[in-house]
Amino acid sequence: MSNKFLRCFSILLIFALLSGLFPSQSSAQRGAGKNLKNDELKLDLLIQGGTVMNGSGSAPIKADIGIRGDRIVFIGKAAKLKVIAAKTINAVGMIVAPGFVDPHTHALEDLSNPKLSGNENYLMQGVTTIVTGNDGDGPVNIAETLERFEQHGIGTNAALLVGHGSVRRLVMGNGDDTPSVEQLAQMKNVTGQAISEGAFGMSTGLFYAPGSYAKTEEVIEIAKSVAEKGGIYDTHLRDEGSYSIGLLGSIRETIRIAREAKIPVHISHIKALGTDVWGQSGKVIRAIRQARASGLKVTANQYPYAASGTNLTAALVPRWAEAGGNEQLLERIKDTKLRPRLLVEMEANLKRRNGAEAILITRSRDRQLIGKTLGALALERKKSPVETALEIITNGGAGIASFNMSEKDIENFMKQSFVMTGSDGSTGHPRKYGTFPRKLREYVFAKKLISLPFAVRASSALTAETFNIPERGRLRVGYFADVIVFDPKTITDRATYEQPETLATGMKYVVINGKIAVDDGKYTGILAGRALRKSQQKPFQK
Ligand SMILES: [Zn+2]
Repeated sequence: MSNKFLRCFSILLIFALLSGLFPSQSSAQRGAGKNLKNDELKLDLLIQGGTVMNGSGSAPIKADIGIRGDRIVFIGKAAKLKVIAAKTINAVGMIVAPGFVDPHTHALEDLSNPKLSGNENYLMQGVTTIVTGNDGDGPVNIAETLERFEQHGIGTNAALLVGHGSVRRLVMGNGDDTPSVEQLAQMKNVTGQAISEGAFGMSTGLFYAPGSYAKTEEVIEIAKSVAEKGGIYDTHLRDEGSYSIGLLGSIRETIRIAREAKIPVHISHIKALGTDVWGQSGKVIRAIRQARASGLKVTANQYPYAASGTNLTAALVPRWAEAGGNEQLLERIKDTKLRPRLLVEMEANLKRRNGAEAILITRSRDRQLIGKTLGALALERKKSPVETALEIITNGGAGIASFNMSEKDIENFMKQSFVMTGSDGSTGHPRKYGTFPRKLREYVFAKKLISLPFAVRASSALTAETFNIPERGRLRVGYFADVIVFDPKTITDRATYEQPETLATGMKYVVINGKIAVDDGKYTGILAGRALRKSQQKPFQK
C-alpha cells in the first residue's frame, strides 16, 4: 500500500468516527438511537417501572422496556426521552423478565389441535417458547408439522426435536433387533433430513420401547447426522434408577455419546429414581462437571416435583415383554408359561418405584381408577398389585404419577448452573400447569434455595443458549420481544395431583413477539407464537 493511500484512509477513518459511523454508546442507547428523532422514542409498547432481570443471572436493575413490532428496541430510563407509546404497562413492584423457555414438553398434541394450540397452561406460567418432541417420541415430518402450526396458529413459540424412537419405528418397526447396515444408514438419513427441515436436534427415550432396543453404538451413529448440522442430543436416560445399567451407567453412556458423536448432550428431567439410587445426585453432578471440564457440552433440565409422570406399562413391564408392540405384549401377558417370569420382574420394578402406594393413577379410559393408588386398587380387587397392574394394562393401560424422588436430590440438582427448568408437561401431572411458578414459589421465595436471578436464568437464557434458539431468552435490544411481567408476591402454581389442570396465577403480562398474550393476568386468546426453524449452524467440535 502506498503512503498516500494510507494517509487518505486515515483521514477517511477519522471523518467516519467523528460523524458517528462507529458510535460508542451502550447497546441499549444504540438500539433506541436508530429510532430517535429529537429525543423522541416511538413505541408500540412500553413496560414501565419494573425490576428487570435480563436472563443473564446478574443483579436486577430498575428499567423500562420499549417494544416496537416484534423486537425490544429500548432498555433504560424512558423518562429521559420523549416517549410516544401506543400502550403502556405499569410494572411498578413487578419483575420483568425474558419469557421462559421450556426445553421438554409433550405439547405436540395440544399445538396440533386448533382448539388447544393457544398453549394457555404454558402462557400462564410465563413460558413463551416450548421445545417438544422429547423422549424419543418427536415427529419425523418436521417441515409438515411446523407448517401446520403456522396454518392454524400457536400461542407460544415452538421448536421441535426429531424422535429417535419414531425414526426407529418408521425404519424397523417395534422389534428389538439390531439394525442392518442399510437400516442404520436409513435412520441417519431420515434424522439428518429432519434437522434440515428445522428440528433443533434429536431426542431419545432409551428407557422406553423401542428406544431401549438401541445399543449405544446405534445412537452414536445416528447422533453424528445431527452433530454435522449443529443440532443437540436430548435424552431420557436408559435408566434413571436401578432397572438396567443404573443411573450412573446411563450418565456415562450419555457422556460417551457426547464424546464420540461430537455433539452437545442434554439430560432431560434429571433425577435419582427410587430408593436404590437416592443420594446419587452428588456422583451424577461430579461426573457431569468432569465431562464439562474436559470440554464436552453436557446440560440437564429438571421439574420441581417429587413424582415423575409416565405410564404403568413403561414403569413396571420389562422391555422384552413389549418387543414387537402392544399386541405382542397382550399375548405375552396371557401366556401362562411367560407369566410367572413377568410377575417376578414386575414385582422388582414396583419395588424400584417405592411400592404400590407410590403409584397414583392419573389417566385412564376407566375414569374410576383416576386418583387412586395401585395399592388401593389392589386392595379393592383383592389381588396383588402387579396382577392388578396387568389387569389395567390389558384394559388399555393408565398414566401414572410415580412418587420416586428424594427432596435432597431434587435440591442438589436444582442448584447446579447447568440445570435448567423443564416441565415435561404431560396430561394428568400438575407439572404441565405449574412447573415454572412452582420453582419460584417453593425454591426461590419459600425455601430460598436459589436466588430469583438464578431461577430466571435457568428458565430462559440458559435454555435458549443450550438449544441454540437465536435472539430469545434474554432481554436485550434487538432481540425478539418475548417478555413477561409477574408479581413476586402472588406468583404461584395451583395445579395439584388431584386437580392437575389448574392454571397458575401471578403472571400479569406475557408478551410474545411484541404481542400481548396475557393481559392483566388473563389470556387474550391471541396466537402470537411462531414455529421456529433451526438455522444451519457449525457443528460443535470436541
Ligand atoms: Zn421423559
